[in-house]
Amino acid sequence: MDEPVRVFYVDDDANYRKLVVRLLGGKENGFHVTETDSLQDFQKYLLQDDFDVVMTDLDVRWDTGLQVIDFVQAWQPSIPVIVVTNSRSEELAVEAMKRGAADYIFKNSQHFKVLPATIRSVIKNRKLDEVQRQSGLALKTSEENYRKIFDNCFDGILFTAPDGRIFNVNHAACKMLGRTVEEICQLGRDAVVDKTDARLFDALEKRYREGEFKGELNYKRKDASVFPVELTSKIFKDGDGETRTVTVFRDLSDRRQVEKDREALLMQSFHAQKMEAIGTLVVGIAHDFNNMLQIILSASQLLMIERKDNDRDFADLQQIVKTVHDGADLVNQLLLFAKKGGMRKVSTKLNDVILSMGDELFDTFPKAICVELDLDPDPATVFLDPNLALRILVNASMNAKEAMPDGGLLKITTNKVSLDSDYCRTHHGITPGDFAMLSIADTGCGMDERTLSKIFEPFFSTKDMSSAKGTGLGLSVVQGIVEQHNGHITCESKLGIGTELKIYFPVI
Ligand code: ADP
Ligand code: MG
Repeated sequence: MDEPVRVFYVDDDANYRKLVVRLLGGKENGFHVTETDSLQDFQKYLLQDDFDVVMTDLDVRWDTGLQVIDFVQAWQPSIPVIVVTNSRSEELAVEAMKRGAADYIFKNSQHFKVLPATIRSVIKNRKLDEVQRQSGLALKTSEENYRKIFDNCFDGILFTAPDGRIFNVNHAACKMLGRTVEEICQLGRDAVVDKTDARLFDALEKRYREGEFKGELNYKRKDASVFPVELTSKIFKDGDGETRTVTVFRDLSDRRQVEKDREALLMQSFHAQKMEAIGTLVVGIAHDFNNMLQIILSASQLLMIERKDNDRDFADLQQIVKTVHDGADLVNQLLLFAKKGGMRKVSTKLNDVILSMGDELFDTFPKAICVELDLDPDPATVFLDPNLALRILVNASMNAKEAMPDGGLLKITTNKVSLDSDYCRTHHGITPGDFAMLSIADTGCGMDERTLSKIFEPFFSTKDMSSAKGTGLGLSVVQGIVEQHNGHITCESKLGIGTELKIYFPVI
């Protein structure tokens, strides 16, 4: 048998209480009535026991009975209250309903007849209300949770239709695309995807065929710049049975940049190892080669002493001596490249090196080349061999001159810079610190990427090696000297635009 319905009846009229007990017929009819005529007892028992329903007379002697409703609402709001009243106090009954009473009955025989049914229906409705309230609460909580995820997710979320319409996007998507929600919803897919991406068609086709797509595409910002994204896109039916899609995407630019930096660093490290190996080879040959040159030189000089200037062999001997000197110069350059040249380091300033010889050097340049100096007004002191520093300036400036056969601008700048750990992470063989920088920039022919990747290799030249112009040693020597000074060198170049060589010497 079901548990009896527990009724708590408040009335100061003992007759009515008896009547109600009789009407509800005791436990065997499914009711258990607790009755009281006092507000204090009512309050005490309500808090102590479990009741399914409270019934209260509205015309109790101590008050209007509205107090009973208020008390239940405050302490046990899930228990419904039925008010019982004389037909005289209909207004009071209306007021009771406003205060939260679940139903009211009049104290007459007709109404009392249906009392059991009224009680059961009030309890049933209250239970239904409660279920609805709970599911409403659950829905609200799940909507709130969904909102939190949608609003705070770092990934972009797009709610769309397969035909390209967009209904909603989250904040992260707007940020990545550089657009407002309204703009994106108005423009649809065109506001998001890069239509020139060759993978787009396959992605849409796969999503249509399989109901979902997972992969990479290019998206487009408002300023038309394109960025790579990793995305998942899924087709589903919404509550109205409409076909919709949800796409979640993540900007891959940073990850790509890290990969690129890592690759560049690896290449730089390979390059450094290669240069080191060539350097070892060069040093090995250079000493023996120098000894041979010395023997040829002294033998030639001896033969010249024995001959007069107008002797038939004299000019040939002169040629031999000159060639030996050229050979010795070549060996010296190779030793500089291999970082084995002799050095005389002094504390000096880059500006002084440039000012000491600059005029002499640049005076030999054609007038169509404009030379501009932008020197640090407060130059840092560095520890370097001034002759070797001058060699850097000469070699780099000569390259700039040769890159500007029709004239242009050669700009030489000195500056102080700090290279931080971020910079050093992407550049091989350099530690963070303060540096004096020398920049040699031209507006010449520039280089393509392949040429740029080889410029520091000895004997690499795009110039006519048989003429005096190209030896392919200019920049390898520059790099050797820079590294011998614990410095650092970079070169940036754009074909048809120009080239900038940046050299960093550690500040003392
Ligand atoms: P060389 O000048 O004898 O060719 P370098 O070592 O000085 O040898 O330069 C190597 C190559 O780097 C050059 O042949 C040229 O292709 C390229 N290069 C160097 N500097 C520049 C520059 N300022 N503009 C364009 N190309 C340059
Ligand atoms: Mg050169």
